[in-house]
Amino acid sequence: RWPSTLRMPRILLVEDETAIADIVLHALRAEGFQAEHCLTGGDALRLARQEAFDLAVLDVGLPDIGGFALCRELRRERDLPVIFLTAQNAEAERLLGLEIGADDYVTKPFSPRELVARVRVVLRRLQPASPMPAVDAPGFLHDEPGKRIRYRGHALDLTRYEYGLLAALLQRPGAVLSRAQLMDRVWGNALDSGDRTVDTHIKTLRAKLRDVAPDADPIRTHRGLGYSLDVG
Ligand code: CA
Repeated sequence: RWPSTLRMPRILLVEDETAIADIVLHALRAEGFQAEHCLTGGDALRLARQEAFDLAVLDVGLPDIGGFALCRELRRERDLPVIFLTAQNAEAERLLGLEIGADDYVTKPFSPRELVARVRVVLRRLQPASPMPAVDAPGFLHDEPGKRIRYRGHALDLTRYEYGLLAALLQRPGAVLSRAQLMDRVWGNALDSGDRTVDTHIKTLRAKLRDVAPDADPIRTHRGLGYSLDVG
């Protein structure tokens, strides 16, 4: 079930066989979705200009412009998740559909229940907020494109290895990264590095953080495991 505070997703169905369309519409509406139906690509384009949809279910074999071309047209204005209804044994159709960026496809004949399940999966996948929001390490501000990190308002003057280590830790605050993981992230396949290398650079990094905040020490050592960044 969708949270009742949210607007129910609006689905555009384009299918020229009314018998199939009726079943699909019924199944979608029974699940609480708002669903509109068009018989042709032309009608769908006109309707999509007037109303915003969250997802489109497009029959590949339409009488006027065809599902793939319709998909392209619909997406010209704005991004729209699409599930194609493809003919049985039409491998080429499925491949082409995926190639042009279909989110999924359902092969005819299909059960309406299966289609509704696919619709749900695609919509859920696109929901922006993940149930677990990323935790931020307090005090840090990471300018990733500029490869700069500020700590408690101070721009840190880091070597590239110190920056790499801190950036790796900042990517997943609270998570313990082993020396091997950090080596891999920061040094890649460099040959001249050993376990001590990570420790050495963590030490200089800590000193720089201590210069900013003498008592904070946000990098935590996990004996035998690795390092993590405190989430406060
Ligand atoms: Ca058709």
